[in-house]
Amino acid sequence: MKALRRFRQLLRRSVTTRALVSSLVLLGVSALFLIASFLATQRKSSQEQLELRALALADFIAKQAQFPLLVGDRSELSRIADGALSNRDVAYLEISGADSVLIQAGREDRKAAFGQRPAGPAGTAGSDFRIVSPDLLEVRRLVRPPTRGRLLDWETGASSEAPLGLVRMGFSMREQQAALRSTLLWGSVAIGLGVCVILSVQYLQLVHLLHPLKTLMRFTDTVGSGDLSQRARVDREDEIGHLAAAFNRMVTRLGETTVSKDYVDNIIQSMGESLIVVDASMVICTVNRATLALLRCEAGDLLGQPVSVVAGDSTGGAVQSGVERVYRARNGQEMPVLFSSGVLHGPSGEVQGYVWLAQDMTERKRVDEERNRAREAAEQASRAKSTFLANMSHELRTPLNAVIGYSQMLMEDCGPEAEAMRQDLEKIERAGQMLLGLINDVLDISKIEAGKMDVDLQPFEVSPVVRDVVNAVQPLARQRANRIRVRCPEEDPVAYADVAKFRQSLLNLVNNACKFTESGTISVDLSRTTQAGRDWLVVKVADTGIGISPDQLARLFQPFSQVDGSATRKYGGSGLGLAISRKFHQMMGGDITVESTPGRGSVFTAWVPAAPPAEKAGGEARKREDAWRESS
Ligand code: ADP
Repeated sequence: MKALRRFRQLLRRSVTTRALVSSLVLLGVSALFLIASFLATQRKSSQEQLELRALALADFIAKQAQFPLLVGDRSELSRIADGALSNRDVAYLEISGADSVLIQAGREDRKAAFGQRPAGPAGTAGSDFRIVSPDLLEVRRLVRPPTRGRLLDWETGASSEAPLGLVRMGFSMREQQAALRSTLLWGSVAIGLGVCVILSVQYLQLVHLLHPLKTLMRFTDTVGSGDLSQRARVDREDEIGHLAAAFNRMVTRLGETTVSKDYVDNIIQSMGESLIVVDASMVICTVNRATLALLRCEAGDLLGQPVSVVAGDSTGGAVQSGVERVYRARNGQEMPVLFSSGVLHGPSGEVQGYVWLAQDMTERKRVDEERNRAREAAEQASRAKSTFLANMSHELRTPLNAVIGYSQMLMEDCGPEAEAMRQDLEKIERAGQMLLGLINDVLDISKIEAGKMDVDLQPFEVSPVVRDVVNAVQPLARQRANRIRVRCPEEDPVAYADVAKFRQSLLNLVNNACKFTESGTISVDLSRTTQAGRDWLVVKVADTGIGISPDQLARLFQPFSQVDGSATRKYGGSGLGLAISRKFHQMMGGDITVESTPGRGSVFTAWVPAAPPAEKAGGEARKREDAWRESS
């Protein structure tokens, strides 16, 4: 049993053994069949030959015995028997007369055969064969009397007459059987040798055929162990060569797939966001490191589990993007996440699963809350500051107006004799005016910051405003030995803005130009242009004064930023004018830009809408306007 099991195992494992065994069985069966059919044919033909020979001999003896039987010549019959026994194949011979056995002759070893069968009376039968033993054939032949008139012709008589006697002859089949055995032996040896030769040739062929397959098998083991850099040798053009080439292609493809899989795995694992892949039945198949860190668990706690263990409010296959959801950690802690999901489709479009992406929002929520609290506190503080400044400015302005008003009244009452007093009163009034300007600026900026500053937009002619501003600044210009030049298009330009705020801004720009220029030229140029689908009034205030350095330009429009402390001490001012002016222009839909070269002068450009924005294309125009303003 054990040996049989081993043999079966060997058959299962080795193609060579299987092929050889099946060939052996096939050849063995064929050889046996061949030998059997050959032997049967051979036996039959030699039997027939033997029978023919025996019959011919029996006939011959019967003819020879005819006359001696007729005359009762026993000596002649003995001579005939001796002659017959000289034939090696004749084992015994018995010649009987009509009523008794006349002659019995035979070899020593066959004598027993005489008793095997009674001779029987002559004339009961013609002739017949009988296999007495495996190696003995017996032939019986009746001896007929000769035909009358043809007595000397030695012919067998007519069958109708009573026979003279009977010839019984034993014919040995030993030689025939020996020849058959020898044929069988040598045939078997020849067939066995043939089978051996065929099997050997087949074995060699199989070894030769299977050698490349074995090489391929070793290579497969190498690839199977993870070494994808190896390639099978393709040095044949037959099926095995094709197999090796196909195998190489497969390994290359496998390598590419493995590389891309590693690449994707690497990306997934190094992602900062949590990634969960679930199959179509919402069971978790893949999780990355960020997920494990977020949910404070091991991969084994999640893989194979329904995804509802992570998010109780699982929304099935609904695709979501950027929604807030809650993940539950292993310890039960709930975590807010920014959630997005997508569907995974198979090659034929069927839903294979879903990808869940989530970003931990715990920290962001905490920071947002802190930021909101800080912003609220800052806004509250800013509102308090603005309210305080507005109240204070208001409270300061009332007594200051009284001081200015009384100093003006006193100046009017002063006669020529009180010249010294009038000069003091003038100083009081100038200082009061400066203080009032400062307080007004503080009030404006605090109103702007508190969002309480309103603009009253309406169309107005610009020239009179410019003229007023230039007239107001003339005293300062004269004091600094500056010349003011105004250039205006032929028809009077119109602006769509808050006229008071436009005047205040322009006054600030021209006043600054005069303040920071000595013995130079201040030019105010008005022009119209179309930008971003809207008409603009462009007011350029250029001077040839001290100019502004690039780093000073960066903080020019910030409140309380006097770019140069020494200049401020020399020229005076609060550092609020430009910040207020720019805010005013922005509130009116325009802007103020600046270009300057230190030592050569500055150009401030105020952009003022020339008309209200078109109602129809209002949104679009406003967008273009904002974009343009940002770029400028
Ligand atoms: P102030 O009331 O102090 O002039 P502004 O906001 O109007 O405040 O100006 C801020 C600073 O910008 C000024 O102190 C000055 O240093 C600089 N500045 C403004 N206009 C000019 C100019 N035309 N030429 C040179 N420097 C200027």
